[in-house]
Amino acid sequence: MLKEVTTGKIFMGRLNHGEDLLEALTRLCQELKIGLGRIEALGAVQRAVLGFYDQDEKVYRTVVLHQPLEIVHLLGNVSLKEGVPFVHAHVALADHSGQTFGGHLYPGTPVFACEMIIQSLEGASLHREREPTTGLPLWRRE
Ligand code: ZN
Repeated sequence: MLKEVTTGKIFMGRLNHGEDLLEALTRLCQELKIGLGRIEALGAVQRAVLGFYDQDEKVYRTVVLHQPLEIVHLLGNVSLKEGVPFVHAHVALADHSGQTFGGHLYPGTPVFACEMIIQSLEGASLHREREPTTGLPLWRRE
């Protein structure tokens, strides 16, 4: 399943100290009415909740990191889930020693500082729905 898209507007900015990283990105996409797009960000978080998908049990296991961390890289996409813009983001986070942790970004990750780029894409729409083989809300084949 591939869809051709074209580049739309690109928004750059920073998030506020203390905002939840995933919720803030989601809110921005909803406010900007970006239903398809990509996100990149860097900065730091005060602590983090990451998910790891248990492929046998088909459930997310969360890891809570109770420490300040650098956002080495956040990569996300934006598509539609139940008709509203939904952000799927993965992050690599580094601690004071440079050791990195990574995974699926969960709410519960407050921003210390974050600079981000949101790029809207045009020409197609992608809708998430539960895919039975993986149990994940993947993009629907259309
Ligand atoms: Zn994920």
